Amino acid sequence: MENKIYDVIILGGGPAGLAAGIYAGRAKLSVLIIEKGADGGQIILTHEIENYPGQPKVEGMSGQELIAPMSEQCMKFGCRRVGDTISACELEGDVKKLVGSRGEYLGRTVILCTGAMTRFIGCEHEADFVGRGVSYCAVCDANFFNGLEIYTVGGNAIAAEEALYLSKFAKKLTVLHKGPALTVPADVKKELEENPKIDILLNTEVADLGGDGILSEIVLRDTVTGELTTREADPADGMFGLFGFTGRKTTGMFEGVLDMENGYIKTNDKMETNIPGVYAAGDVRVTPLRQVVTACADGAVAAMQCEKYLSKRR
Ligand SMILES: Cc1cc2nc3c(=O)[nH]c(=O)nc-3n(C[C@H](O)[C@H](O)[C@H](O)COP(=O)(O)OP(=O)(O)OC[C@H]3O[C@@H](n4cnc5c(N)ncnc54)[C@H](O)[C@@H]3O)c2cc1C
Repeated sequence: MENKIYDVIILGGGPAGLAAGIYAGRAKLSVLIIEKGADGGQIILTHEIENYPGQPKVEGMSGQELIAPMSEQCMKFGCRRVGDTISACELEGDVKKLVGSRGEYLGRTVILCTGAMTRFIGCEHEADFVGRGVSYCAVCDANFFNGLEIYTVGGNAIAAEEALYLSKFAKKLTVLHKGPALTVPADVKKELEENPKIDILLNTEVADLGGDGILSEIVLRDTVTGELTTREADPADGMFGLFGFTGRKTTGMFEGVLDMENGYIKTNDKMETNIPGVYAAGDVRVTPLRQVVTACADGAVAAMQCEKYLSKRR
């Protein structure tokens, strides 16, 4: 076990963790960032992001291009970084302990930035087309499909709201739902049915995707008869998996320790959890919008709260 007790341990090197690192490092706190993979979290999956403020280029930039300078900035302000997967933690008390496969780490404060995970469509070859026709976030990617045909997958209320949002951009939008009826409030159902751009295909799921590097073939399965039909898409058309995100896969170790809601960590607007000295930032917390800009803002708030917490104890 490392003997050093850090002022701040940041768990997760996505946008929230990196922003927290920049603010905590600049505040002259000793900072350790623990990340199990490459820096950047979910955003490095995307080939194009154009809604992070200060991106005037028409084409936007890739997630990697956005993240690389954030990582560099953390190092510039003295953050130490370790590659490890944390599987257990002791968060009560003045010194908090995180336990990983490569060691144990001690900190006077902890910022949990473990993010959320996309719920995938679950069809064949889906992974080949992420960012190449397949998306999971209407707010992130609607603009890329302006004037094109869009397929949405999912039949609950959240999926319906996102489909209505996407219909503002689409030339034509087809809602795919594997069940016999949408599970949405009556007024939302009416709005979908009355929208001239929207078609609803019930008892239909996506079986397979194809195309030469970009989505251009969609194989649909009738969930009652099992019959397969293939739709040719124009190479720039899009498919949105709208099953939402889950925090559960990244927050299991905090169950019963931190206050949670649907697998996400509850905080107040200072990013404080129910345990003093423990903060959560970004997609992992209960929040109305999961984006890079909100994750970064949360990270900054959490870091400055660590500074306040520590200065009261010096
Ligand atoms: C395909 C896609 C496209 C997107 N497009 C956009 C967009 O255009 N604009 C936008 O603003 N947002 C977009 N988003 C959303 C954005 O990526 C997220 O809101 C943002 O990354 C959240 O940052 P975060 O730091 O809170 O969490 P994450 O990015 O999820 O990072 C969490 C990090 O914690 C690490 N971690 C988790 N558990 C552990 C553990 N136990 N031990 C060690 N490390 C751990 C993970 O490896 C990960 O690196 C997109 C998301 C996806 C999936």
